[in-house]
Amino acid sequence: MTEKVALIGSGNWGSSVAKIIGRNVQNFDHFKKEVKMWVYEEQVDGMNLTDIINTKHENVKYLPGIQLPENVVACPDLIKTCEDATMLVFVVPHQFVSGVCKQLKGKIPANCKAISLIKGVDVNEDGFRLITDMIQDALGIRSCVLSGANIATEVAEERFCETTIGYRNKADGVLFKEIFNTPFFRVNIVEDVVGVELCGALKNIIAVGGGLVDGLKLGDNTKAAIIRIGLYEMRKFAQMFYKDVKDETFFESCGVADLITTCAGGRNRKVAEAHVTTGKSFDQLEKEMLNGQKLQGTSTAKDMFNILSKRNLCHEFPLMTAIYKICYEDLPPIRIVEDI
Ligand code: NAD
Ligand code: 13P
Repeated sequence: MTEKVALIGSGNWGSSVAKIIGRNVQNFDHFKKEVKMWVYEEQVDGMNLTDIINTKHENVKYLPGIQLPENVVACPDLIKTCEDATMLVFVVPHQFVSGVCKQLKGKIPANCKAISLIKGVDVNEDGFRLITDMIQDALGIRSCVLSGANIATEVAEERFCETTIGYRNKADGVLFKEIFNTPFFRVNIVEDVVGVELCGALKNIIAVGGGLVDGLKLGDNTKAAIIRIGLYEMRKFAQMFYKDVKDETFFESCGVADLITTCAGGRNRKVAEAHVTTGKSFDQLEKEMLNGQKLQGTSTAKDMFNILSKRNLCHEFPLMTAIYKICYEDLPPIRIVEDI
């Protein structure tokens, strides 16, 4: 069967993977060559961002300096982007997924499959839901997940890294691997959707911790301690809520490797460091430093704190709890090392 891929999202990571997917579909006969990419329309220098992308073949706002393949076509209409697709790649910041799913409900072909590249979870009054479950529930389609040590700009510059696809249905995992795998972006597939997805969501909280200790200028040993304790709390949280999550998943790119890269070079780290050195709020710094890109770590810290506090579990997760309180309750940043 011929597959048609559509991308939902075109930020820093969305644009970076658009480059890979646009090229890879040309290497196989069973993929249609056009890849539509949904762009949340905005004006850049008085022009529609979609028009700029379709003429310059560059996302000048979210991934400047990187040429996108010409078969990647930017589209401002979400439904039109997805209506004839058989493979959907979700890559919007997690706070926008629910709105996207509501718009797509009942509008996509029944034979569609999805993959989520989103690092976050969906929270409601009863607790939380994985983004892959949300996609499955809202749209009635299966969803894999992709997560790894993948700072978007480095991937776009084709510097070697690895990534992890988690699947429930192996054929889906193998098919999605075809559109992502390259010699510089090495994909491993594992049968653990929940483990891969929770690694991606929870590491963003620990990345904020990495930035806080950088702002405090505590040095490399402290950073390593945050990474170790963070990895321990991530595994404990994942296995407490989902007993089938595998230990091995934490040794994949989505686990320890993503924690290391995100605590060294990610946006959450950078903004958290600036929070300590300038005293400005995270919201203000997000606007000043990220040019429209979105932070995920602080809101995920809040979501997880709400879940843990409702269950009287905060004392079992001292690092995540301290990070939440520093971000939202004015706890002095130094408490990150005093409370763990
Ligand atoms: P981004 O933070 O660079 O950009 C924000 C995007 O949100 C823009 O495309 C913007 O147009 C869009 N947007 C703004 N308002 C919107 C709305 N109301 N509805 C829908 N979209 C809206 O995005 P990104 O880096 O591509 O992040 C997407 C996901 O990928 C996140 O979950 C992130 O954690 C994950 N991720 C990012 C990286 C990275 O290095 N950037 C790497 C791996 C995974
Ligand atoms: P940030 O969102 O903190 O930049 O992390 C990017 C990422 O997930 C790298 O794997």
